[in-house]
Amino acid sequence: MTFTPDTITLALSKGRIFDETLPLLRAAGIEVLEDPEKSRKLILPTNQPQVRVVLVRASDVPTYVQYGGADLGVTGLDTLIEHGGAGLYQPLDLRIARCRMSVAVRADFDYAQAVRQGSRLKVATKYVGIARDFFAAKGVHVDLIKLYGSMELAPLTGLADAIVDLVSTGNTLKANQLVEVERIMDISSRLVVNQAALKLKQDAIRPIIDAFASATT
Ligand code: AMP
Repeated sequence: MTFTPDTITLALSKGRIFDETLPLLRAAGIEVLEDPEKSRKLILPTNQPQVRVVLVRASDVPTYVQYGGADLGVTGLDTLIEHGGAGLYQPLDLRIARCRMSVAVRADFDYAQAVRQGSRLKVATKYVGIARDFFAAKGVHVDLIKLYGSMELAPLTGLADAIVDLVSTGNTLKANQLVEVERIMDISSRLVVNQAALKLKQDAIRPIIDAFASATT
């Protein structure tokens, strides 16, 4: 692989986003030539010599695209909101990796009563921006505790009264005796494009955006 100024770099995270982006890439005539589950490579070639995929942590996708480490990327709306979206053109809701952002508590915690009484809620989450805005809009006072994973543990150990987390089937909450008490927003993955790259590499990037758009409608 040789990288010229014309190289198009797409940032993806492994797992659901990678898997669900493959059919969209195929619609754009792009086949990724290596399986990230079988290879340790972080840069994956495609059947188009000028297009490559870089594998980054989900929360790093907007940062890579913002600063031009990648020309475009696929990221969850949750991650995009937490990042803030600076320097990113957001042309498409890809409607993949769909789930919801919700508030959950222990089954024996009276959330409605706590909110009604104006108590100070302790909320553990990875999504502090979304949680802060949601509770501020409701006029609920919260102490936010930032976590990086296993949020379900927080109410079970007394670290927090509630969590704000992504819910898909609800099985993880159920397995940990937690209940979903409020849905904050629906989440899906978005295509993000570096604004400068969109201008400078229009001829290569536009067809990819157009193919993704046709494949998602
Ligand atoms: P589930 O048990 O299907 O409700 O999935 C919940 C778990 O999967 C939680 O730990 C979530 O953080 C994670 N999760 C669910 N959907 C997504 C998604 N679209 N992207 C990233 N993580 C997710």
